[in-house]
Amino acid sequence: MLKITALAGGIGGGRFLRGLLRAAPDAEITVIGNTADDITLHGLHVSPDLDTVMYTLGGGIHEEQGWGRADETFSVAEELAAYGAHPQWFTLGDRDIATHLVRTQMLAAGYPLSAVTEALCDRWQPGVRLVPMTDERVETHVVVDEDGHHRAIHFQEWWVRMHASIPAERIVFTGIESATPAPGVLDALDAADVIVLPPSNPVVSIGPILAVSGIREALSSSTAPVVGLSPIIGTAPVRGMADAVLRTIGVEVSPQGVAGMFTDILDGWLVHSSDSDVVPHVEALGVRCRAVPLLMSDIDATSAMASAALDLAAGIRGRDS
Ligand code: GDP
Ligand code: CA
Repeated sequence: MLKITALAGGIGGGRFLRGLLRAAPDAEITVIGNTADDITLHGLHVSPDLDTVMYTLGGGIHEEQGWGRADETFSVAEELAAYGAHPQWFTLGDRDIATHLVRTQMLAAGYPLSAVTEALCDRWQPGVRLVPMTDERVETHVVVDEDGHHRAIHFQEWWVRMHASIPAERIVFTGIESATPAPGVLDALDAADVIVLPPSNPVVSIGPILAVSGIREALSSSTAPVVGLSPIIGTAPVRGMADAVLRTIGVEVSPQGVAGMFTDILDGWLVHSSDSDVVPHVEALGVRCRAVPLLMSDIDATSAMASAALDLAAGIRGRDS
């Protein structure tokens, strides 16, 4: 049985994985999820990326929005606002809150996040094994200049409240120095026949996963091909504000710019059809590159992207053996 291990953020990762499940229905898929977006809100431990993947694959996602639950109501949020409880820029839906209650309670009882995630997935049956990158607490913080004051704020506040409208001077993964891979992470990378980087945000979704000790090394020394799909088409992200975080770390907002961040781990890279001119530039980095449609407009298109990634990987495996 083909063993596939994927790293994933939220929306881009989740949607791609839905296509991967369609393209490789018999494969054993392990997903290493980003937890650096995690945040404590009203005393609740919220794991936005893990939940987006779980809801997307489990059929509970709000399809148009891409995150949160379908058929959601907001009574609790309204009541919290009536008390003047903060923050009010991050709205939790009533259904969603049940997930955070279970998670927070289990964590307080001493279960690691990986065990909690497994328990939550028992309900959602996502069809993949979803493992957080680490059981330790890591949080992405962003240093911003607000009227001459340099202030570190939680990534979610910058992204959700400010819509990344002021530049991030620095991006810091607090807690990353002492974070170790969650149980199953290194095993899944070691056992994989193919390792996939979906079109997730390279800086704040893939970045923190690779920054957990040992994970980047496991990918770079892996004998399995590592293939990725560009979240950037032309000079802009398909969705969201990934350009803002790429500018912070000084990486060109382009498919080859993102490939350049991962030359130590990538064997193959897919760019969108309209970016075929960058293929030789990526190959000059020592990464095999193909241009194929990369718009996840529906499940068929997404499944075709996943097939293209697996084909690219198979070609690389064939070459190496
Ligand atoms: P988040 O954690 O919810 O922000 O989601 P991810 O990090 O997993 O994915 C966000 C990235 O997905 C963004 O940088 C988008 O450019 C990318 N993305 C979203 N939709 C598409 C698509 O249809 N095609 C491609 N190639 N990238 C996409
Ligand atoms: Ca995210």
